[in-house]
Amino acid sequence: MSRRPLLGCIADDFTGATDLANNLVRSGMRTVQTIGVPADAEARVDADAIVVALKSRTMPADEAVAQSLAALRWLQAQGVEQVYFKYCSTFDSTPQGNIGPVTDALLDALHGPGQGFTIACPAFPENHRTVFKGHLFVGDVLLSDSGMRHHPLTPMTDANLVRVLQAQTRRRVGLVPHEVVAQGAEAIAQRFEALRAEGVGVAVVDAVGNADLLRIGQALAGMPLVTAGSGIAIGLPQNWQTPGDAAEGEAADQLPPATGHQAVVSGSCSVATNAQVRQFRAQGRPAFAVHPLEIVAGIDVVGQALAWAGPRLAQGAGPVLVYATAEAQAVRAVQAQLGVAEAGALVEHTLSRIAVGLVQAGVRQLVVAGGETSGAVVQALGVTQMAIGPQIDPGVPWTAVQSPVCPGEVVQVALKSGNFGHVDFFSKAFARPVRRCDE
Ligand code: ADP
Repeated sequence: MSRRPLLGCIADDFTGATDLANNLVRSGMRTVQTIGVPADAEARVDADAIVVALKSRTMPADEAVAQSLAALRWLQAQGVEQVYFKYCSTFDSTPQGNIGPVTDALLDALHGPGQGFTIACPAFPENHRTVFKGHLFVGDVLLSDSGMRHHPLTPMTDANLVRVLQAQTRRRVGLVPHEVVAQGAEAIAQRFEALRAEGVGVAVVDAVGNADLLRIGQALAGMPLVTAGSGIAIGLPQNWQTPGDAAEGEAADQLPPATGHQAVVSGSCSVATNAQVRQFRAQGRPAFAVHPLEIVAGIDVVGQALAWAGPRLAQGAGPVLVYATAEAQAVRAVQAQLGVAEAGALVEHTLSRIAVGLVQAGVRQLVVAGGETSGAVVQALGVTQMAIGPQIDPGVPWTAVQSPVCPGEVVQVALKSGNFGHVDFFSKAFARPVRRCDE
């Protein structure tokens, strides 16, 4: 059944967008993710929720604001009832932005300059991010004692979110403490009204468990703008669900049938991905290593990888793996020779050309490992929209995309950010039955 999108989301980074979309789907909303703001303002999206994936987390604040407002206008043209600005569950930002400036700009656009009210809640208890008395905890420690204090771009040295946000926004920041959240949606909504009457424009909201997210979600019904990590998404879909919805029997994570050859392209060098590559190879499955220094030496690595993959795909014996994944020491050696950015770009470019070649060779189920690598592959495939399907492992769903590389056909793609996924991810992803329309 075709419906108007209800929830329009603006995510400040790419894998964060998929994480949010995954939570929405798990809560029953059919969700489409777009790569950037779609150029076509007239195109209508058939989904309950849309997530516009931006890469605005660390860009200058004025650019992040401009992109977020463009996303807002496009979502408004889609007719969404509520807007969700999604940021990281560790509240990644600096005193210059971008959470505060983007929140201000979205509230101004929706309510008028200096007007309106929204929340700020990065809590995602399932992922060990909790907020108590306005302080953000990562696992058992305060944000400011976590590894985030050393982040190269957005070091988080203060766990008091009221203070952190107040440094970034023109609006007054308040707090809805846990003792209010624990009383339920009505009490939370009343506290919103009281804070608003006091002149507060953004309220940090405590949440330490999923039950809190559900209570907060209920209290957010009808609020034009919500700002949060991906956790709050668990509590919003209930606001639009009626008892009849379940009877429709239409799963939100339904994708078109998965067909065609299977492949993994891995450019992540994280500890988890290294273990996944090792496990795949230890199982005796087909794997081709891409060596950056061979690319530099002018060897046709793309041609070799595709010539290697062709007959193995034709045998249809399961996924083939093409990987540049290497241990930290090997990566450092390559980086010392080529430069960090140059090595990264070179490998991304090579792997994305290989991914395009694999799709040309009939691959229709593709796992990509690595955040930056995923961005490069999706761009090379010319993907503009992703329909979110069933979750493989937390934070990593199968998605369905269309690509000009194989016009009119569906490619199922799973984008795995470096540290996600169990050790057997590269075989598990394909073993898990993808839900079929005809089932
Ligand atoms: P993750 O999600 O694990 O951070 P990314 O894809 O975001 O993975 O980042 C990994 C980066 O390392 C990419 O830029 C990729 O091109 C680069 N890379 C991959 N393999 C190698 C290698 N063997 N040597 C140097 N750089 C590499």
